[in-house]
Amino acid sequence: MDSQTLVSIFDKYSVPCSFEQANLLLSLMDLTLAANKKTNLTAIKNEDEFIEKMIIDCGIVFKADDVVNKNIIDIGSGAGFPGLVIAILYPNCHVTCLDSTAKKCQQIEYVISKLKLNNVDVINQRAEEYAKIQREVYDFAISRAVSELNILIELCAGFVKKNGYVIAMKSQKSQSELAKAKNGIKILGLQNLKTEKITLPFSNSIRHNIWLFKKTSTPKKYPREYSKITSKPL
Ligand code: SAM
Repeated sequence: MDSQTLVSIFDKYSVPCSFEQANLLLSLMDLTLAANKKTNLTAIKNEDEFIEKMIIDCGIVFKADDVVNKNIIDIGSGAGFPGLVIAILYPNCHVTCLDSTAKKCQQIEYVISKLKLNNVDVINQRAEEYAKIQREVYDFAISRAVSELNILIELCAGFVKKNGYVIAMKSQKSQSELAKAKNGIKILGLQNLKTEKITLPFSNSIRHNIWLFKKTSTPKKYPREYSKITSKPL
């Protein structure tokens, strides 16, 4: 794909993307697919699928007005998705990519240095540990493909400031996951705001982005240890 085509696709979703940004996103794809040949970072190996599932899906969560000068953390970022895509599209935001796997964090560091991105940092730590240090400092905690919502909310809520948002990027099971997470959403100081349903451009598959609003402070005892989070979800 060329940068003009990528710019036009983003335009259809009302996401501003310049040629320079499209070129950076295509370089992100090249660097990730090249690294993927040596170490298993993502299951996606084909370019069109990569563009749709890694670049477009991650790039259409926000509209430009949502994220002016915001502080964003990507929980369980893997090889940098959605964090790196958001950082490229919204250079006035600061993005923290957090992942517990060292080789994935090293890949993000490598991409940052190759693409000379100056608005991203990388933390190689578990979310439930880092949330104890970085308490309520982010405007958004976003996460894709990390865990079921009833577990994910406990990993994410503590990071977010009052009046900020947790965004869970999900496929079509969003409503059953929301029902299971109802109790936890309340305990953690969150409120179910909306689920945005977005159709991807090539496969027509529908993505569900769940937006949770941070209404009140998250009680200090959350997140608990990971074993407790998973064995007794809130
Ligand atoms: N978000 C990326 C994506 O959509 O391509 C990666 C998804 S991958 C399936 C899940 C990632 O979450 C893994 O890289 C794993 O190391 C990370 N992860 C899982 N639990 C975590 C935790 N408690 N703290 C930090 N990272 C975690």
